[in-house]
Parts: sequence; structure tokens; C-alpha cells
Amino acid sequence: MPDIIQLLPDSIANQIAAGEVVQRPASAVKELMENAIDAEATSIKLIVKDAGKTLVQVIDNGKGMSETDARMSLERHATSKIRKTEDLFTLHTMGFRGEALASIAAVSQLEMRTRPAQQELGTGLVVEASEVKKQEPVACEKGTSISVKNLFYNIPARRNFLKSNPVELKHIIDEFQRLALAHPEIAFMLVQGDEVVYDLQPGKLSQRIVGIFGKGYQEQLAACQEETNLTRVKGYVGKPDFARKTRGEQFLFVNRRFIRSNYLHHAVMSAFEGLLTDNSFPFYVIFIEIDPKHIDVNVHPTKTEIKFDDERAVYAVVRSAVRQAIGSHNLTPAIDFNA
Ligand code: ADP
Ligand code: MG
Repeated sequence: MPDIIQLLPDSIANQIAAGEVVQRPASAVKELMENAIDAEATSIKLIVKDAGKTLVQVIDNGKGMSETDARMSLERHATSKIRKTEDLFTLHTMGFRGEALASIAAVSQLEMRTRPAQQELGTGLVVEASEVKKQEPVACEKGTSISVKNLFYNIPARRNFLKSNPVELKHIIDEFQRLALAHPEIAFMLVQGDEVVYDLQPGKLSQRIVGIFGKGYQEQLAACQEETNLTRVKGYVGKPDFARKTRGEQFLFVNRRFIRSNYLHHAVMSAFEGLLTDNSFPFYVIFIEIDPKHIDVNVHPTKTEIKFDDERAVYAVVRSAVRQAIGSHNLTPAIDFNA
């Protein structure tokens, strides 16, 4: 019997991997902005056109890349963030899988300009469906600018699957808000078409919340903070009266990474027990800090789900932090006396 198994060419392997990492323009937004944060940028600008369908561009003033690294960054499993297995347990970066740029480059037309501060000239790259079309020295600002054009242009089935512009833009704004909330010390800007949607100055978390959601939030916030040997919880919760009927303004971060967790959401909701009217959801932005050795981030390619060694202990700290926060405002239960 003849041997028939072959390794896939990189371009195909990358396209397959892209199916997991890049679902829509907002996925490119998340990956590019996380890279900018990991590159220690103090200012990050996101430009989108057509809800990201024709352009997602992220410009940062971070460390930039050498010519060789610029090229390497597009390879699959190529990363500067981990080197050995143990590094997974001491992670302090958003990225580590080394597959985002390779995946994005496999399903778009990508342009990169990057320059480390100590270099006079930077590197410019033009890539189409994983193929480098052009590489040349360019004069550019310190840092990195990556433009992702016409996402899925080479996979019509995926492109047709994208939702309407308002829906795709909502996903982008969600990602942008999460990252901007997690990093109030960084200046963030979002430009959609010709419109500046956000222009956020660096500051404190409370200022960032107001910058994103509006002045009306200022009076509605109660600070929460609680610490144990295992974890430190801090952030803000909205007062019970400020709760809304629609979900969406509940933000939970673990080591500054936005996560989804029904279990920890329940911890917050249980702290509000008896204070909320039916089916309403309190606003919250809660940060959980924990030694990375107690969590596993590598559960899913997009990293929005994580596993804790001791989820119940974290639950208890979150609940107690929130209880204290709302207790400290001497709130009376939202009992309907006319009922
Ligand atoms: P990961 O973030 O998991 O390492 P990526 O594919 O997102 O994988 O990026 C690959 C590598 O390219 C990163 O490890 C980093 O060294 C480099 N890189 C990507 N984006 C930037 C950026 N904006 N500034 C500096 N370096 C970057
Ligand atoms: Mg990355």
C-alpha cells in the first residue's frame, strides 16, 4: 500500500487555524490591540472602515519589530512571549499562542509598518493570503501599524457569512471597550469611517468608565476591593437603582483579560440579592488578580474562558467585595411597597 499522508502547506494550515481565531472583523481588532498592549504601547489607535469589513487598522507606539521579527511575526507558532512550557504558568502577556498574525494574514490583505525606537528606518510588508508580496525599508513612526484589508476576501463563504455593518460594528466596539477598560493607563482612540467614536485619555479606572459610558455613570459607581492570600478583587459596581433590563455592561477581567464566566457573574448577582428589581442587571467592571499559576488561560483560542484551580474561593471573594461595595452606600432594598 502506498503512503498517502502529507503535511499541509503553511498557507492551508494557517487558513484552517484562522477558522478558530478569526471569526469576524472584531477578532482582528482584539488580536491586533492585544499585541499593541503586549508591545507596551502608551497610545493605541483603531481605525475601521465598513465595520471592519474593508479595513481594520491598529496603530501603536510600542516597541516595534526588527526586520526579521516583522517577517517572523507572520509565521504560525511564532511568538516572543513564551519559550518553554513553564512560561505558560507565569504568563503576563495577552498573547502567547503565536498564531493570530499568521491566521489573520492567511485570510486578508495585510500591510505592516513597524519600527523600533533605536532604528532610523522601519520595515514595510505587504502580504496577501500568507504570501509576502513586498518587503522594503520605510520611514515610519516608532511602533507598529497593521492594516487588515478585506478580511476573508479569499474565502467567499466566510465573507458572506459576516453580519450587517451595525452588528459587526457592535462586536468591534465591545472588544474595544473591554480592552480600554482593562488599560485605563493607555490612551485609546477609535475612528470609524470619518467619525471619532472614542478619544480616551489615560487616567484612572473611574475616568475611563465615564469616558466610555458617559458622565451619567460618575454618580452611580461604588468602588469595591477585597483581598485574600489567593486573589485581589477590585473595580466598580453600579448602584442597584442603576441596573438595567438589558445585559451587556457587565465586565469581568482576570489578570486584565476580559473573560466570560456565568459562575462569577452569579457571584456578583448573588451579592445584589434582594436589591434589584426583577430581571435587571447591575453595571460592573471587576478585576480579579491572581497568580497565573492558579489559572489556565489556554482553554479556548480566543481565551475568553479560563479555568481556576479553586473557583469557589474566587467566587467568595468576588461576592464579598461586591457586598461591601454596595453596603457602603447604605442602600435600601428595592422593595415595591405598592405590590
Ligand atoms: P502572540 O501574540 O501570541 O505572540 P501573534 O501572532 O499575535 O502571537 O504575534 C506574533 C509576534 O509578533 C508577537 O509575539 C510579537 O513579538 C510580535 N508582534 C505582533 N504585534 C506586534 C506589535 N504591535 N508590536 C510589536 N510586536 C508585535
Ligand atoms: Mg497576539
